[in-house]
Amino acid sequence: MSLMKKQKIQLDKENYYSIEADKQYMSVSQFKLFNECEAKALAKLKGDYSPPSSNALLVGSYVHAAFESDEEFSTFIEENNGSIFKSRGGKYSDFETADRMIEALKVDPFALFAMEGEKECIYTAHLWGADWKIKVDSVNHSRMTFSDLKTTQELQKRYWNDKYNGWVSFIEAWDYVLQMAVYRRVLQENIGQTYTPYIVAVTKETPPNKAVVHFDESRFDFEYEYLEMKMERILQVKNGETEPVRCNKCDYCRGTKKLTDTVEVGALIYE
Ligand SMILES: [Zn+2]
Repeated sequence: MSLMKKQKIQLDKENYYSIEADKQYMSVSQFKLFNECEAKALAKLKGDYSPPSSNALLVGSYVHAAFESDEEFSTFIEENNGSIFKSRGGKYSDFETADRMIEALKVDPFALFAMEGEKECIYTAHLWGADWKIKVDSVNHSRMTFSDLKTTQELQKRYWNDKYNGWVSFIEAWDYVLQMAVYRRVLQENIGQTYTPYIVAVTKETPPNKAVVHFDESRFDFEYEYLEMKMERILQVKNGETEPVRCNKCDYCRGTKKLTDTVEVGALIYE
């Protein structure tokens, strides 16, 4: 045991996504990763695993940057030039789609209204037994609202979901309700007021579909109970008090799998 209490790092734009920040803080994406696969989440914290870079992720960041500021957008384009532009000129089709998505929102006064506010706001708070960090796309203090921009395949697509035990939209499927619930709670701790969340969604279809999504308040209570239920185990694993369970199907588990036994047919689909 050290006599000096370890100083928490001051989070900023540069270190927000660092391993050190993830070790010291819980975040919505870390929580989701632990739920998906404990072994993978822990390996990521130890620096033994980094998620494969995906083009979809890059396209999402591109659309985000466009609404952050002109400066941020040009920096992003400069830094990712090779992924955005073909050597023979013109953009790769994913980024042409992204440009159409950006345009679809930019010509819509209601969408722009929903995104008005301070951009990329970082907050922390102690909740559910851990220090949390959040980075909110846009916070509007005068309206007491915040919003998050999401890109998706199509608005109406249905997904089977075990957590909700039913068919859900992309918002629940990607745990965006949980994300909004956490942001709302962390903001409450920091500001002492309850802010209303919105998701500004835009699709990859041609032409893009779009919506500003609001949430029935009762949805958040379910998420808070869910967080309460899951956090004890996650913190035990994160603190090294319990061995992580391998999901045995994610990219990390497949890549590090060593067979020791046979499986019965039925176990293939019910494990
Ligand atoms: Zn796994």
